[in-house]
Amino acid sequence: MDLMSKIISLAKRRGFTFPSSEIYGGFGSCYDFGPLGVELKNNIKKAWWEEMTRNHENMVGLDSAILMSPKVWQASGHLTAGFADELVECKKCHKRFKADELKTPKCPECQGVLTQPRRFNLMMKTFVGPVEKEAVQTYLRAETCQGIYVNFENVLNSMRLKIPFGVCQIGKAFRNEITPKDFIYRTREFEQMEMQWFCHPKEATKWFNFWVKERRRWYFNLGVKKENLRIKEVLKKDLPHYAKKAIDIEYKFPFGWREIEGVHNRGDWDLSNHSKYSGKDLKYFDEERDEKYFPYIIETSAGVDRSLFVFLLNSYQEIKGGRTKTTKAAKEVEILLKLDKKLAPIKVAILPLVRNKPKLVKKAKEVYQLLKPHFTCQYDELGSIGRRYRRQDEIGTLYATTIDFETLKKDDLTVRDRDTMAQERVKIDDLVEFLKEKLK
Ligand code: ATP
Repeated sequence: MDLMSKIISLAKRRGFTFPSSEIYGGFGSCYDFGPLGVELKNNIKKAWWEEMTRNHENMVGLDSAILMSPKVWQASGHLTAGFADELVECKKCHKRFKADELKTPKCPECQGVLTQPRRFNLMMKTFVGPVEKEAVQTYLRAETCQGIYVNFENVLNSMRLKIPFGVCQIGKAFRNEITPKDFIYRTREFEQMEMQWFCHPKEATKWFNFWVKERRRWYFNLGVKKENLRIKEVLKKDLPHYAKKAIDIEYKFPFGWREIEGVHNRGDWDLSNHSKYSGKDLKYFDEERDEKYFPYIIETSAGVDRSLFVFLLNSYQEIKGGRTKTTKAAKEVEILLKLDKKLAPIKVAILPLVRNKPKLVKKAKEVYQLLKPHFTCQYDELGSIGRRYRRQDEIGTLYATTIDFETLKKDDLTVRDRDTMAQERVKIDDLVEFLKEKLK
């Protein structure tokens, strides 16, 4: 099995992702996030939010509506050719493809002749109002940032901010992608983590360079291997319609180097267009410079789903012959998901040594109740202890506590470290503090 298939299989088997509406055969390349997936996703979003809003000054947050006035999308340029892909169709098998992804002029499936490319807008239409005919037609947002631009004045005034400052937002976005593919890499419904930095036009280049470095550092700090990440400058001819300059942060996926985040210098495109279309003057008066101008915007735009995929790929390890190298394990391949401690969905597992000794089980359940309010925990009593350690390694659980017969006498237990497999005996009274210290 190749790495991609292994990750997809692990994700399904262990409850990270499920195909949406699976009992009806799936739907439109959408995915649901299972019990472990939602923990991992929340941890990614929390790590991003903390990094952006706590480690930087002049940064605030926002949560704007997914549904907005359709005028927003006229002003942003998303309804015109700017936000469209070139679609070609095979005249023989009628499969559709994104023109810029094709390597030959023939159909990659059946070698049939392809139609001429036509522009296909990616906005998802919807209707707001009870009677479809009279309802307002609008769109599900294709990027979260427009909610930030239309709230520029509200945020500025309510928080009494001064330029430069930034606004962060995490939320769903929708694009009617022609060819959703590669697991959760390209889907029609996805989540973005976006930050918009408003600055003086003359400082835009400085801030652009600053944010590229900051964003790259974030992935490294969460354990992404240096050799798997690169920065690619977007050529002028490939720039999105709103951008003056752009780079892609790319990850080395099993299917090649692909974008996981974009950093864009959007110039004054957004605020000047929203001023023009809304009739509201969104210029900023800079008291220090005694100047009125449209701030330039530096945007960092990351995908939650793509990041989650990256963190799974990046942390996946197979240990042939088993981690403990016992003869019993010689033929086995053990899986270790070496997720960063901030990201691991389960922090602590609680394992009674055996499950047929009521006193031991009772004690283990007490430990579970003790730890549960502090950490994401999993209680597991099924199977041999070695097997249960392996199950926890496979999902990246950081610490496994084992309640054994000694525990009943001394009120202590063993704590096993995922990465070193070293075991330490810790008093139950000290356990919460001990784990908190480890997880700092
Ligand atoms: P691509 O070229 O891959 O279509 P893009 O350049 O259109 O991406 P942006 O508009 O810059 O992407 O969006 C910012 C981020 O949002 C991307 O880096 C990615 O992480 C995420 N994203 C965009 N489209 C999708 C999608 N269809 N599925 C999952 N994530 C996406």
